Amino acid sequence: MFVLLFGPPGSGKGTQASALAERLAIPHVATGDIFRKHLREGTALGKLARSYMDRGQLVPDLVTCDLVASRLGEADAAGGVLFDGFPRSVPQLYWLLGHLGATGRGLAHVVNLQVNEELILARITGRRTCTNCGATFHVDSAPPDSSGNCRRCGSPVVQRKDDTEAVVQDRLVAYAAQTFPCLEQLTERVPVHNVDGVGSIDSVRERIFAALAL
Ligand code: AMP
Repeated sequence: MFVLLFGPPGSGKGTQASALAERLAIPHVATGDIFRKHLREGTALGKLARSYMDRGQLVPDLVTCDLVASRLGEADAAGGVLFDGFPRSVPQLYWLLGHLGATGRGLAHVVNLQVNEELILARITGRRTCTNCGATFHVDSAPPDSSGNCRRCGSPVVQRKDDTEAVVQDRLVAYAAQTFPCLEQLTERVPVHNVDGVGSIDSVRERIFAALAL
């Protein structure tokens, strides 16, 4: 089953994805996480991606679709994946529909997480990310451990360069101009479940599960 978690930056896609992927028994594929892994490892792709990510812009479609194609070629992805942060542009969406359609597959569901801009800004600028395992925390609602380190692996946590207020504004502009238009295209093709993303992690998770009748 191929499922898409959609929504603006800070809507909670990454936070909700693990539990949903686990419940659906499919891998969680987050293009942002894959780019950040390349960044940490200093690969050529990581260096290219960084120049876009640091400015809150989208990595070019061809590069991103190639990355997703190779991830979808891995054995664990054969039966479906939960996409988080992909597609992020109409060309990426058409590429994905064509790629899946070529082998008789398609998107089963879209979960569209809805949040207001004020909350997006508070969530993103307060977000802290582990430099080692990528776990995320929030300075107010889910802080790192008492020494300021990751509760999962003990490594230092930092504010992502693209989580600063200046860059968040650019990411929101990119979302409105390039990503949001995917929703109209999706609505014509796939069941889209609009889910209120405001509230505790548990309550949003329950809403998502209910929308998908899980
Ligand atoms: P995220 O972790 O999903 O918020 O993504 C962080 C950054 O990675 C984005 O602001 C983009 O620069 C880049 N990125 C992630 N996914 C995509 C995508 N599907 N297309 C283009 N760029 C992406």
